[in-house]
Amino acid sequence: LNMVLTRIGLAGLAVMGQNLALNIAEKGFPISVYNRTTSKVDETVERAKLEGNLPVYGFHEPEAFINSIQKPRVVIMLVKAGAPVDQTITTLSAHMEVGDCIIDGGNEWYENTERREKAMAELGLLYLGMGVSGGEEGARNGPSLMPGGSYEAYKNIEDILLKVAAQVPDSGPCVTYIGKGGSGNFVKMIHNGIEYGDMQLIAEAYDVLRSVGKLTNEELQQVFSEWNKGELLSFLIEITADIFGVKDDNGDGYLVDKVLDKTGMKGTGKWTVQQAAELSVAAPTIAASLDSRFLSELKEERVAAAKVFQSCVFEGEPVDKKKLIDDVRQALYASKICSYAQGMNLIRAKSIEKGWDLKLGELARIWKGGCIIRAIFLDRIKKAYDRNPELSSLLVDPEFAKEIQDRQSAWRRVVCLAINSGISTPGMSASLAYFDTYRRESVPANLVQAQRDYFGAHTYERIDIPGAFHTEWFKIA
Ligand code: NAP
Repeated sequence: LNMVLTRIGLAGLAVMGQNLALNIAEKGFPISVYNRTTSKVDETVERAKLEGNLPVYGFHEPEAFINSIQKPRVVIMLVKAGAPVDQTITTLSAHMEVGDCIIDGGNEWYENTERREKAMAELGLLYLGMGVSGGEEGARNGPSLMPGGSYEAYKNIEDILLKVAAQVPDSGPCVTYIGKGGSGNFVKMIHNGIEYGDMQLIAEAYDVLRSVGKLTNEELQQVFSEWNKGELLSFLIEITADIFGVKDDNGDGYLVDKVLDKTGMKGTGKWTVQQAAELSVAAPTIAASLDSRFLSELKEERVAAAKVFQSCVFEGEPVDKKKLIDDVRQALYASKICSYAQGMNLIRAKSIEKGWDLKLGELARIWKGGCIIRAIFLDRIKKAYDRNPELSSLLVDPEFAKEIQDRQSAWRRVVCLAINSGISTPGMSASLAYFDTYRRESVPANLVQAQRDYFGAHTYERIDIPGAFHTEWFKIA
C-alpha cells in the first residue's frame, strides 16, 4: 500500500492493450494494468519483466487498479468495441473521481463515443475516443494516435502520447489533438477506409501483372521492391514485396498462391461507405474496395460462375512486360490520389457538419508513421493542404494535378487492357471514372434531371436563365 502511484492505467490486455502498455512503460511512464480475465494481467506483467523490467504493475481488482494511479487518473481502455466498452466504463468509473479520465483506444463507432462523453460529463469525468493505428507492431513500438473529445483530458496526457506515438524525422510524433466529440474515432474510421482502398489498388496491380503480364512471384517481389524506392514508398508496398517472397512451408511453391481468395473485414470500411452515403460525398474507390471484399466472399458462387462462363477466355495481345510494369505503377499512383481525395473530402464534409474544425494537412502528417497507410505520399498531401487549407479536392492541387496529368495515358492503358483481358480492376476503374467525372465541365446530369422533371415534376434549373422550371415534356414530345 506504500506503493508509489503510477502515472496512467490501461484496461484490456489483448493484443493491442498489452503492447501499448509495454510501449508506455518503456517510454518511462509507470503504468497500472487490468483485464477482466486476470490471467492476462499476469501475462502482461511477466512480459514486462522479460522485456527489460519495464514499470508495469498488474491488478486483479478494478478498485485497487484505479487507486494505484495518480490523480487526476487517466485510464486507457482497449477492449472490443460496443457493449464491452460500456461494461468496462461501468466497472472503472465506479471507482473514479471528478476530474478523472477514460480513453477508449478501440475502433469505436464515433457516435458511441459522443454518447459516452456526455454520460461521463454528468459524473464529472472526462472522456476521449482515441483511434490507434498500426496493429500489434505499432502499439508496441509507436502507433499513430488520433485522440478526440475532451481537450482538457488530452492535455493531461499529451506528454505521454507525444513519446508513445511513432516518431517521424522532420515531421514529429504521429499524434495531434484531432478535435471535439467523436472526431478521433471518425478520423480513424476513414483512415481504415483509405486503407481498404490502398490494399485493393495494390491487389489490382498484382492481378494485372500476374494475369496479363504473366509475372512470377519472384518478378513481382522485384517489382514491388523497386516501387518501394520511389513515389509509392509505403508500408503496404513493402509488406506486399515481402509476401511474394515467402515460400509455402506445407508444400511446393509460394504461400501467397495457397491463400484462399476470400477477404475478411471487421466493419470500419463498411462504416466509411455508409458515412459517404450519409454525407452525400462520392467515395467510389473505397466503395469498390468494400464491394470487392463482398464478392471475394462468394468463392463457391464464383467457382460455379466460372464454369458457366468458361468460354470467356480473352486472348490479349502480347504485352511488353517492362512497359506494362511501368504503366501499372503509374495507374496505381494516380488511382491512389483519387482514393485519398475521396477520404479527405469525407473528413472535411463531416468536420463541417459537426463543427469539428479538423485540419486535413495535420491528419496527413500523423499518418506518416506508425499506421498501416504510412507512406511518403502523405507528405505531398500535407504540402497540398499547407499550400491551400481550403483546397476543394486534392485533384486540383497544382502538384497533384500535374502528377495525374503525367500519368493519365498509362492509367487509361492499364484500365483498358484489364477490361479487354476480362480482368476486373474495380478500384482503378472507379478512380478513373471519378477523375473523368470531376474534371469535366458538363456531365449528362441534364438528361437525368429532365427525366426527373418529366415523370415527377421535380423541376430543373437552366444554364441561361435563373430560377426553377417545369415542363410538360410529354405534351411537347
Ligand atoms: P479485442 O479482441 O478486440 O478485444 C479483447 C479484449 O476485450 C480483451 O481484453 C477482453 O477481455 C476484452 N473484453 C471483451 N469483452 C469484454 C467485456 N464484456 N467486458 C470487459 N472486457 C471485455 O482486442 P484487440 O485486438 O487488442 O483490440 C482492441 C481494440 O483495438 C478493438 O477495438 C480493436 O478494433 C482495436 N484495434 C485493433 C487492432 C489490431 O490490430 N488488433 C488495430 C487497431 C485497433 P477478456 O480477456 O476478459 O476476454
